Order: sequence, then structure tokens, then C-alpha cells
Amino acid sequence: MPSDTTTHEPLVVLTDVNKHFGQLHVLQDINLTVGRGEVVVVIGPSGSGKSTLCRTINRLETYESGSITIDGQPLPEEGKELARLRADVGMVFQSFNLFAHKTILDNVTLGPMKVRKKSKADAQQRARELLTRVGVEAQADKYPAQLSGGQQQRVAIARSLAMDPKVMLFDEPTSALDPEMINEVLDVMTQLAQTGMTMIVVTHEMGFARRAADRVVFMSDGQIVETATPEEFFTNPRSDRAKDFLGKIL
Ligand code: ADP
Ligand code: MG
Repeated sequence: MPSDTTTHEPLVVLTDVNKHFGQLHVLQDINLTVGRGEVVVVIGPSGSGKSTLCRTINRLETYESGSITIDGQPLPEEGKELARLRADVGMVFQSFNLFAHKTILDNVTLGPMKVRKKSKADAQQRARELLTRVGVEAQADKYPAQLSGGQQQRVAIARSLAMDPKVMLFDEPTSALDPEMINEVLDVMTQLAQTGMTMIVVTHEMGFARRAADRVVFMSDGQIVETATPEEFFTNPRSDRAKDFLGKIL
């Protein structure tokens, strides 16, 4: 399979996306197509624009030129449509961002009831299924602070999944976790990948990238420098910047 394109049906399509923060050209002519069911791992040095890329796909950031479509539809600028379309893009951050004063169950049911207009009974049933899937069903009536970081992050994944997103974005989901909790979160993500979820994952966990990624995208200084299969990328990176990066982390 040629690694610069996808053989899957395109789901997330970025075309010539440019964004600045003041003088900083943080996203430079970004072209990226993520196919339905595909897992794309984004790696690169700190400050290269990986988080900005995720946030721009979810319209938490604006961009100046180019286009981004999800399942053929552009993300609208604002309003109700944006809330609904944004729900198609699940996002899990480094910090778990659970609602501290709501129970785990309520954290997972809130969005589906509000945005997806699900009944409480339906939302709760689905929430319990998802909490079981990520292994925290026993914590449903607790509050976030009563859970470990790994458990909270698994709840954050369940909460995103409860919205039935078309694509899940993960921005360094394990980098705030104690080492012993990293694998329990990566295992949930690996399982999710196996269910056919479309995923864009920013991570420094190269084991996960090798295991779960269909493609690796290497970013540096606001550019996508290289796109490759994990096999190609880790054994034979083409660019000097990728070689340099891998030399530092492996
Ligand atoms: P990464 O996630 O790859 O570490 P980021 O996307 O967070 O990179 O940041 C890319 C660059 O943009 C960095 O130089 C960072 O300092 C800058 N940056 C990020 N967010 C903002 C912002 N809100 N305002 C100004 N500069 C920002
Ligand atoms: Mg980042």
C-alpha cells in the first residue's frame, strides 16, 4: 500500500491547511487523509504542531486557509451545527478533563443526553456498556477524584465513545500517567483500533505505534515531513529530521 494515501474510504480530509499563531506558522500546508477505520499515529518533537493539528480538526482552533472535512462535511464555524458535528469527533487529551462534581456515570451520560438527545435510560445503558468495555464499571457511582489516573483516562475514552463519534482523536493520552497505568490505557486504545474505530493518535509510545498504527505521520516545525507504515518508518525513515528524532527517542 502506498503510505502517502489511504486505500480506505476517506473520512477526515485536510487539504492545504495553514494556521499561524502571530508570526509562528504552526501548520504549514497540511494535507492528510485518514480513511474510515484507519489508525494514524502522529509523532514528532515537542512544539511541532501536533496538538494544534488535533485542535484544528476539532475546530477548537480556527485556521486561515485550506479545508477540513469530516465524512464529506466541512466543520461549520459556530452554532448548533458545530456542536453536533464536533460530537462526531471524539477527543481525549493528556489531562482527563472529567467533570469533577459529577459521578463517573453522569460524566458519560451528559453529552449523549444533551447533544444526541438520548433518553436518560438509553444513555445510562450505553454508558454502562462502555464503562464495562474500558474496565471501570465498578466505579460508575464514584467521583473522578476517587479513581486512579489510568481509570480516569479510560472513563474519558468511554465518555467520548458515548457520543458515537466517527473519529477519535487522542492527544498524548498517556503522558500524564504513572508508568504502571500507561498500558491499561493503551490496551483500551488497541482494542478500540481492532473494532474498526477511525483514530488519530498523538503519542510518544512507539510500541503502540508499531502495534496499532496503519500509518505513522511524522511532524516537525509545523509540517508533515513524512508519512509511512510503522514498519517503513521505524526501520527506514526517509528524512533527516525523522532519523534525528528517532535517534533521540529509541
Ligand atoms: P506539539 O503538540 O507538537 O508539542 P503544539 O501544537 O502544542 O505542539 O504547539 C506548536 C507551536 O505552537 C509551539 O511553538 C507552541 O508554543 C505554539 N502554540 C501552541 N498553542 C499556542 C497558542 N494558543 N498561542 C500561541 N502559540 C501557541
Ligand atoms: Mg502537544
